[in-house]
Amino acid sequence: MTKEAIIERLKEKGLNITSPRLAIIDVLVEDGHFHPGASHIYREAKKRHRSLSLSTTYATIHEFIRHGIIKALEFDGKENRFEGNLDEHINLICERCGKIIDYKAPISVDRLDVAKTTGFVITSNRWEYYGYCRDCIKNLNSATPTGELRKRHS
Ligand SMILES: [Zn+2]
Ligand SMILES: [Zn+2]
Repeated sequence: MTKEAIIERLKEKGLNITSPRLAIIDVLVEDGHFHPGASHIYREAKKRHRSLSLSTTYATIHEFIRHGIIKALEFDGKENRFEGNLDEHINLICERCGKIIDYKAPISVDRLDVAKTTGFVITSNRWEYYGYCRDCIKNLNSATPTGELRKRHS
């Protein structure tokens, strides 16, 4: 997901390209794997636009959602996360660090076929897999004294 693509969406919806909005878009697209929460967006966007307030950050995020420019991912008991990738994809969610990585779905569901065969009309979807990211696996492995275990068993 590129910055240009999101700016294009703003223009389509008739939203002005303001400096606070650009700062927030920057955070949403930087490291396209991250799916930031509002507090991260605020912290990082404020570095780019000094006078940004938390309430402007929230207002802008909600405006983007309302216009279908970004999507919110809600989690029980955890901060909501936001993403600009509106294509059908799988979110790979790390249970340890909370990182969310986009993975292109190998198949896509034909919504017309779903409606035809079941009468069910899909309005939105969430596709998530839970596990551990590469960094966390690396950290877990180095924290486990496998060498010690091996010594004791031999
Ligand atoms: Zn992780
Ligand atoms: Zn995603």
